[in-house]
Amino acid sequence: MATLNDIVCSWENTFNRIKRSYNLHYHLKPEQIDVITHILRNENCFAVLPTGFGKSICYMLPPVLLNETISDKRHYGLIISPLRSLMYDQVRSCNAMGIKSCCITRKKDMDTETIEGIKKGLFTLLFMSPEALLFIDSWRPILLQSKIYGDGVCLIAIDECHVLELWGDDFRPTYRMLGELRSHFSCSFLILTATCTNVMKRNILKQLYFGENEMQLVSKVPDRPNISLYYKFGSLSITEEMAWYLRELKSDGITARKAIIYVRTITQCGKVFANFMAYLGNAAYGDGSKVIQNRILEVYHGALASTDQERVVSRFSQDNVLRCIICTVAFGMGVNIPDLNIVVHWGCSNSIVEYWQEVGRAGRNGDPAEAHLFPLPRTVLHVEDDMKSLCEQLKHSNIPCLRVHILEHLTIKGMNPHIIDEIKHRKSCDMKSC
Ligand SMILES: [Zn+2]
Repeated sequence: MATLNDIVCSWENTFNRIKRSYNLHYHLKPEQIDVITHILRNENCFAVLPTGFGKSICYMLPPVLLNETISDKRHYGLIISPLRSLMYDQVRSCNAMGIKSCCITRKKDMDTETIEGIKKGLFTLLFMSPEALLFIDSWRPILLQSKIYGDGVCLIAIDECHVLELWGDDFRPTYRMLGELRSHFSCSFLILTATCTNVMKRNILKQLYFGENEMQLVSKVPDRPNISLYYKFGSLSITEEMAWYLRELKSDGITARKAIIYVRTITQCGKVFANFMAYLGNAAYGDGSKVIQNRILEVYHGALASTDQERVVSRFSQDNVLRCIICTVAFGMGVNIPDLNIVVHWGCSNSIVEYWQEVGRAGRNGDPAEAHLFPLPRTVLHVEDDMKSLCEQLKHSNIPCLRVHILEHLTIKGMNPHIIDEIKHRKSCDMKSC
């Protein structure tokens, strides 16, 4: 029988062998190989990899590789994810590859076949929110106290772990209880995010009861070189500051570039939307017929009915008509719009970590993209200190390069900062765009 050492040494061969049958048509990047190797060695791993890098393959592969090489029992991965839309997307793509996966929610929202399949251990990857895992009593005996999962779980991945820090206290207190999992499973933990600071990492590890030296770090400076950064301390209205894009929308209609415009409040969403609609007139509708399905402009915020939210998201990703969404930060996480070209911030983000997450939604397909920041003075008052200080320094031109400033802020101990040095030496930054 294959020993752990054999598996660790030869897993890339196994991967190449099973590639075709699992529809995995890609070369793994060095960081992905590092993460997977740590997990197969039963080590814990903290992975900070840029948006769009391909983090999910890091938790998808280990259980599959183990199932391919050790046949005396079945291996499972539990994936803790903050958003349902994100989980459903992942489950769909895993199943399409032939990796049996499911999403665990409230039982009344699930079909009997899936529930029975979970009890019998038929799914290799099980996606769930922390609430479903820890708060739904009927799942506890199945997932936390059964032999199938007690013996078989080889990996627990906590995806988008920055939400532990951003949401933990009020919004999703269950995130703070994930540390309990360590008393049920002795498997590898994989903690994933695209953006992290040293303070955040320390807090996240503390919440999960991990010491710094119990975690292998795999990380990459989260640069997104295809996104150009612009900022402006404008004194004009949003309609005037965004005139360049409104003209594009008006003249190009459904072929204009795709944009999301973040404003700070729901009230502002409505106002900006009304102003833009007035500017566009008939041009706000793809082929002139004034029906909602034909609008090139939409709003999105937390007070919208969930059916409307879903309609906006699916139109933006699929219908080739909708070009621009005016939204609050409620729009974004878990939404994958590869051809999004422009992200605008009318007012500051709450923190540098959140700003970079929001910016990172642009240019996922690798095409040139743009991010425009308008740090309105009144919005600076209500944000985290790091964002406050960034805006203050930008205002007084104390920052030689916005990109370098952000990336240095997001460099954690142990990360190789050579990309930042390269950017510094490029000297092409004129600070209006960098
Ligand atoms: Zn720059």
